[in-house]
Amino acid sequence: MTRSESQSPQPHRASPPTSIPASTPASTPATTTLVVGSETVLVTRKSIKNMYLRIRPDDGTITVSAPRRTTNAAIRDFVCAHESWIGSTRKRMTQLHRENEVAAFGHETDETLTPRELFRRKWTPERLQAARGYLQARVPEMIKRWGRVLGRTPTSVTYRAMTSRWGSCTPATGRMRLNLELAEMPEALIEYVVVHEMVHLWEPKHGAGFHNRMSAVMPDWRERARTLNSLWRYA
Ligand SMILES: [Zn+2]
Repeated sequence: MTRSESQSPQPHRASPPTSIPASTPASTPATTTLVVGSETVLVTRKSIKNMYLRIRPDDGTITVSAPRRTTNAAIRDFVCAHESWIGSTRKRMTQLHRENEVAAFGHETDETLTPRELFRRKWTPERLQAARGYLQARVPEMIKRWGRVLGRTPTSVTYRAMTSRWGSCTPATGRMRLNLELAEMPEALIEYVVVHEMVHLWEPKHGAGFHNRMSAVMPDWRERARTLNSLWRYA
């Protein structure tokens, strides 16, 4: 990732940022922490209308995006109200991680790890290499296959550890970036992100044109997006 790339115009993103309006201001929102029970929640206040709750798949951290004037008390209530959702989502993410690690890494995660510890895993050089190898062995073939359907292919694909998006694409340059976390997701969801980003080569925004094109080539894309989003957010 070069400096100029990281400063390129805001790229279009796969889920979950599909839920973020394209008009989100570029100003950097302030992130603070808020202790709720035994959890430290990352809170970002920005110009949005609703509160969003997400579980970061890399470490299980709870993050909340909230409208600027939301009080800490309201955020605490919001998090507490979704306690059971947080528990079931973490459990589901843990199961997915375990199932897909067998495929991605050829071995099971240490069963003695608690879900919390599992999410706290860092990107070790070994894990990075395994995830990259897994995606590199599958994604180019997917792009080739879907390129025949869509008529356009990205000019380059890079794999990176990202914490807030599954993928992104800059239509002007044709560059696609995919989150290494995808290596631990089911193949149908990897394929959804790849196709989503490739459709951006035709349709930069998430408007009707984008939706029509997605539905034409992947009729169940909304279901796949829902599954992917269910791992990240609760609105
Ligand atoms: Zn998108």
